[in-house]
Amino acid sequence: VSLAVVGATLEDETVSLRCEDGLIAALGPDVAPGDGDDVIDAGGALLSPPLVNGHTHAAMTLFRGYGDDLPLMRWLEEKIWPAEARLDADDVYWGTRLACVEMIRSGTTRFWDMYWEPEAGARAVRDAGLRATVGPPLIDAERDGARLREAAIETVESIAERGGHVSPALAPHAIYTVSEESLRWIADFSAERGIPVQIHLSETEREVADCIAEHGTRPAAYLDDVGLLGPATVLAHGVWLDRAELELIAERECTVVSNPVANQKLAVGGVFPYPAAREAGVRVGLGTDGPGSNNSLDLFADVKAFALIQKHAAADAAVVSARECWEVATGRRAPLLGARPLAAGEPADFLLLRRDAPELSLGDLTAGLVYSAGGSVVDTTVVAGRVLMSGGEVPGAGEVTAKARERAERLGVC
Ligand SMILES: [Zn+2]
Repeated sequence: VSLAVVGATLEDETVSLRCEDGLIAALGPDVAPGDGDDVIDAGGALLSPPLVNGHTHAAMTLFRGYGDDLPLMRWLEEKIWPAEARLDADDVYWGTRLACVEMIRSGTTRFWDMYWEPEAGARAVRDAGLRATVGPPLIDAERDGARLREAAIETVESIAERGGHVSPALAPHAIYTVSEESLRWIADFSAERGIPVQIHLSETEREVADCIAEHGTRPAAYLDDVGLLGPATVLAHGVWLDRAELELIAERECTVVSNPVANQKLAVGGVFPYPAAREAGVRVGLGTDGPGSNNSLDLFADVKAFALIQKHAAADAAVVSARECWEVATGRRAPLLGARPLAAGEPADFLLLRRDAPELSLGDLTAGLVYSAGGSVVDTTVVAGRVLMSGGEVPGAGEVTAKARERAERLGVC
């Protein structure tokens, strides 16, 4: 089925758009619907590229509001890890479906996920109609490299085989939870199979100190030594990266995803040095991190937090502009994350935003999107030419919420 959207606003011009086979077939002021198209009258709504969530643990919606306001290690050791030990595939499925409803509602159509039972997470993404890059956290605290390799190969193959809009990633949890031998294996496997890597890096100051003590070098240099700093790698956090590390990351064409809300909520004590990263030429995206530690998946909140913390840390209100922050949030400063431009021949992924929303009704539009708006300004979400939400309603959202609640109750976390 093909879709046509008429009467949308794009850069002060009235445009229409046709989608065929999941792609944008035509976009412009003179485009007309074809015979048999499903037609949406946008009524002047703003046509916008979707947001991209570069780092999350989607199924942790189940743990939202469980153990909040505890220090990081107590939150993990007393609350999250015992609950995760009871998780099964259906928990992950419904937790991820709930996350997808929230992302559809707030205009995120693509995300990078690291979580247990990744096949169930991937199935949830496919059923919800979104796009994601998914990998299980690879951990070999027991230094059991054989089990890690088996888990990595198995999930990569099963997720790649089912295809759809979900692709596999290798997700070594962090440099302190994976052995050097396994990190080297992951680097080789990633290069051999062309599979991207996502890893938490330089989130806390302690991670940096421990890395120097154990390996004699800072985290980014260590990751480079094991072969993992490359154009297919996403580094989540990067709070404590120094200038030399940023230069190395830029040279290796690696992507850093900043998670300003989760970093502040977990009180990591530092701020991702975005101005220095920009100067070095680092590719930067935006993430929420897991909904257990954010606790929202509405990236509009994170883009505002990103802008504010950067201005505040630099003591300079001009250090980042709304336009630049919006580019970070929509993945345009980090091609690896997968965002594509709104143009003919590209995937038909887009939003219609309420031009009549009070937050967007006057003043500069981009400033409105970054500083005033929340996800509630999203009226319509389309992925691959399929309407996942219109008029702010996601079909089936009530059932998903009820099922997720059942799973959280089963886990004893709500
Ligand atoms: Zn994370």
